Amino acid sequence: MKLADIAGRFRIDKPDKFRLSDHDSKETCGLDIGKSNAKDMLADGLKRLEAVQEKLYAQDQWSVLIVLQAMDAAGKDGVIKHVMTAINPQGCEVHPFKQPSDEELSHNFLWRAGRRLPGRGRVGIFNRSYYEDVLVVRVHPEYLASAQIPENLLGANIWKQRFESIRNFERNLARNGTCVLKFFLNISRDEQRKRLLDRLNDPTKHWKFSAGDLAERKLWPKYMEAYEDAIRSTSTDDAPWYVVPGDHKWFSRLVVAAAVVDALERLKLEYPDAGDAARERINEARKALEAEK
Ligand code: ATP
Ligand code: MG
Repeated sequence: MKLADIAGRFRIDKPDKFRLSDHDSKETCGLDIGKSNAKDMLADGLKRLEAVQEKLYAQDQWSVLIVLQAMDAAGKDGVIKHVMTAINPQGCEVHPFKQPSDEELSHNFLWRAGRRLPGRGRVGIFNRSYYEDVLVVRVHPEYLASAQIPENLLGANIWKQRFESIRNFERNLARNGTCVLKFFLNISRDEQRKRLLDRLNDPTKHWKFSAGDLAERKLWPKYMEAYEDAIRSTSTDDAPWYVVPGDHKWFSRLVVAAAVVDALERLKLEYPDAGDAARERINEARKALEAEK
């Protein structure tokens, strides 16, 4: 199995047919982390990611936006750390999206994301994103009230309208040279229980636990409905979703790396050509330095 096959396997190409229940959170495509097949692929993924990111940075034309969404304890942080090991920190920014500030709430829901987008040549990683505004806010409609939106704009169509706004936002990014890749780390409810318990049983992990985690966990079915609708409504060629099996951390890291490598290699990035005049200057500089000996 190749990295491109893994990427394709989990990309949502037929959003109309998408159902979360068809996706197994324990899937590993027959790979086994105890065996070299998986270890070699993980290493290969990072090596290719490193090579392609350097070209992205050098060419300074495209940018990459990686959106990570998941329930608590699904492993977003681990995925970010894994991907980052292959990326030159100078060419990458990570932004966590938490409860919005008063200033953020006083603007439209895409405003805070728009200010954090990666510039040309750069990779931006959104740890949560503007999708929270069709996920957590949909599950807790009372959050809409704090956004001070005029009441007559809060109709039943608000989620459809937000999906449309998101599609347009992402299309605009794509048309301006940003490769948008979106990942839902799909863990099972049972795996989340195990991981939250791990956090509680290990004092070095207590900082990761917040009381709200259990309250959100109780709303699991509502979140899954919201995720399903969001993924159905915003999987596009401009900005595909990948539904990543999340119960095995090593496998979710492999899938994300594979998808990023696959998308970037398709861009056929090249180191910039210096041009004739610059080549002449380079030759002169080389001669001058060699003559110093
Ligand atoms: P971990 O997986 O380690 O718990 P996290 O991403 O959940 O990390 P937290 O600081 O625990 O980080 O939580 C951030 C919280 O902010 C999440 O519960 C998320 O749903 C919430 N949030 C993000 N955007 C919004 C928004 N627009 N409106 C309301 N809540 C939001
Ligand atoms: Mg949390």
